[in-house]
Amino acid sequence: MRLEDSEERGAAMTAKLSALEIQQQERLAQRRARKLSLPYMELFAFPIEPAALSLVPRATAQATGAVVFYKRGRDIRAAAVNPADTKVQAVLADVERRLGTLPAVSVISEHSLQFALSRYPRESRGPSGPRDELPVAADLLTRAAAELQRVAAAAGGPLSLSPTELLTIILAGALQMRATDIHLEPGQTAVQLRYRIDGVLQPIITLDLDMGQKLLSRIKVLAQLKLNVHAVPQDGSFVVRVGSERTDVRVSVLPGGVGEYIVLRLLSRRDAVLSLDALGMKARDLAVVQAELKQSTGMILSTGPTGSGKTTTIATCLTAVNQPGLKVVSLEDPIEYRLAGVEQTEVDAPAGYTFAAGLRSILRQDPDIIFVGEIRDGETAETSVHAALTGHLVFTTLHTNDAPGAILRLREIGLALYVLAPAINLVIAQRLVRVLCPDCAKSYRPDARLREHIRDVMAGVDRTFFDPSVLDDPALRFRKSSGCRVCVQTGFRGRTGVFEVFSVHDEIEQLILAGADVSKIREAAIRSGMTTIAQDAYLKVLDGITTVEEVARISEE
Ligand SMILES: [Zn+2]
Repeated sequence: MRLEDSEERGAAMTAKLSALEIQQQERLAQRRARKLSLPYMELFAFPIEPAALSLVPRATAQATGAVVFYKRGRDIRAAAVNPADTKVQAVLADVERRLGTLPAVSVISEHSLQFALSRYPRESRGPSGPRDELPVAADLLTRAAAELQRVAAAAGGPLSLSPTELLTIILAGALQMRATDIHLEPGQTAVQLRYRIDGVLQPIITLDLDMGQKLLSRIKVLAQLKLNVHAVPQDGSFVVRVGSERTDVRVSVLPGGVGEYIVLRLLSRRDAVLSLDALGMKARDLAVVQAELKQSTGMILSTGPTGSGKTTTIATCLTAVNQPGLKVVSLEDPIEYRLAGVEQTEVDAPAGYTFAAGLRSILRQDPDIIFVGEIRDGETAETSVHAALTGHLVFTTLHTNDAPGAILRLREIGLALYVLAPAINLVIAQRLVRVLCPDCAKSYRPDARLREHIRDVMAGVDRTFFDPSVLDDPALRFRKSSGCRVCVQTGFRGRTGVFEVFSVHDEIEQLILAGADVSKIREAAIRSGMTTIAQDAYLKVLDGITTVEEVARISEE
């Protein structure tokens, strides 16, 4: 029997266990613990860290019934169904040999073990050993664009490239052009290759269907996916190495209309966690955020559509507030950034570790600061707000278009006004705009219509940020994108945030408490100095950082 099959059966078996059987298992585990004079524990109540789990490979954990679930400095904790087993002793001795500390061991039930096994990071599931590595010659990076053109020119004709060579060129091109994702999309007659650069998909070349098919097979083998499975989504990963620098590549294959869609995500290319002042906030917004980060209790909300940078903002805030001596725990779906000093846990709904259940077990761990990846349901909202009112600083995200809309969303989810108003400290809504390439941006004089449009949008903005008379200045120039070698013809290099930020005090708190219209909350926020996302974006146009077209693009999101 293949390991994978036994895993699936194990999971199905666990799912069918009745509450009675689980109790029976826990009683047996307690009895074993007493006999061995070791502590007994339930792993469900503990935020298991994927990083600690990885100290014992999943296959070993499954075979021996032993896991390491916690590691903080020399405090390493393991759990085993039967710690007296010599195989378990060997696992613990191996950890000691590698880390210099013998893990403290507790006794757990088979049920707890299955739960721990389900918490292993997805990429290390299954029977696979270490991930495959694809080397890319450093000098190929500089030639990648030309090589891609050569591939495009040969489409339909004979091309003397192996699928591996083609994949190497595609990866080299992506690395060279600062792409975060590579998309291969089969159509009726050809496969389109696109790179996501600064958040926008850019067409690169097309490949003929035969080459696309061979490329798909090569990627599947590298990512340890099943070659003969075409009808269901598959996820895997491999590593691309240039010199000594390794980049994780997450592979997602989805069945599509005419073939399988492939997306390769280049993980180390993602925006790194920034310092607060590098997020792109103007001084007023930054000051409001920094004041609220000094609080030790209350809720900080970050809102926006997918890909708006809201998780980056929260990760940056968490990094800013985290200090030794504080316990910071996160519950995410999935974990997007590895944050030093934060106990990060990942939602695993099939294993029962939902946002609501996970949050309850995190609260039993006596945290100071909690990051709830997203509020989607009433129970999570309720528990989060309760935590914010009882001495925790709670960070979370919501899918709403603007900052005042976050209040409405939480009201719709079912939160009472009298808990909402005192719980929320700060609301940040945001989008990302692309930053013009300084090497090729061109300046132009905005025409009268555009200037009047901006005058309308900017009405009511505090004079310290915007003086309408600049629109009448004949010397006024905006900048537009062009394209050069440095920015790989996109006209842009990197992205920055545009924000609307308000803190909940005095007037706004009273309005929320009274159940006021969102429009009233918005007006009060603007009176307190908030600029809307569109206004903040135009401030960045006036500063020559981004373009009018970028403002239009984010307005449609
Ligand atoms: Zn350029």
